[in-house]
This record gives sequence, C-alpha cells and structure tokens, in this order.
Amino acid sequence: MSDNIFARIARGDITVEAIYEDDRVIAFRDIAPQAPVHALVIPRASVENLLGLDPADPALPGAVLLACAEVARLLGVDQSGFRVVFNNGNDAGQTVPHLHAHVLGGRSLTWPPG
Ligand code: AMP
Repeated sequence: MSDNIFARIARGDITVEAIYEDDRVIAFRDIAPQAPVHALVIPRASVENLLGLDPADPALPGAVLLACAEVARLLGVDQSGFRVVFNNGNDAGQTVPHLHAHVLGGRSLTWPPG
C-alpha cells in the first residue's frame, strides 16, 4: 500500500478541505501555491503518474480532467484562463509519486514553463 502524502489523502487517512470530490477523485489546494489559484486533483486509486494509468480504465483520466474543469469553475478562473500540469518523473520535478493534476490560474502564466 502506498504511503505517500497523496495516497494517504486519497484513502481518507489525512483529511483535507476538498474543493471538489466524487467517487473517483478529490481536489484540494496546494500547500505551497505557485499562483493565486493553485489546486491539485488526485485520483482515489493508487496511480504513480500518467505512465501508471490502466488502459482498461479509460474513464479515470476523464474523471481527473473533468474535475480540473470543475475546479477551475469553482475557483473562478474558467473565464480568465488556467493551466493544467501533470509532472511525471524526475526531469518534470514530480515530488509526490501519486498522479496529480496542478490547476493554476489567477495570474498571467508564462510560457515556456521553467
Ligand atoms: P509535484 O512537484 O508535481 O509532485 O507536486 C507536488 C505538489 O504537492 C507541490 O506543489 C506541493 O506543494 C504539494 N503538496 C505537498 N504536500 C501537500 C499537502 N499536504 N497538501 C497540499 N499540497 C501538498
């Protein structure tokens, strides 16, 4: 059983203030926000990153993306614009080995990312 912080949140061992949740995902604010709006969307299932997604369960990535859009609406950045980022592995800077989407907005975001 995975013991990383997001796995523990996903299992309900650690309680967070959910922005949005359903039977497949939970969304909450990032503890170290990089923008005025910075939320994370994680699946309840144990998946390390995009490479760990199960082709037999194509609804899961859909649930994560739909939740990102709902979070953007709930946090009021759907009209102004927002970015969704999945960091996968070392070069991308993934620090928590549980799939998570960053939802960033509330300011003009630069491109390319650092
Ligand atoms: P990544 O670098 O893509 O793995 O992103 C991990 C993110 O999780 C970082 O933005 C952290 O600030 C955030 N984070 C780590 N622990 C917590 C926590 N307990 N609650 C909310 N966000 C967290």
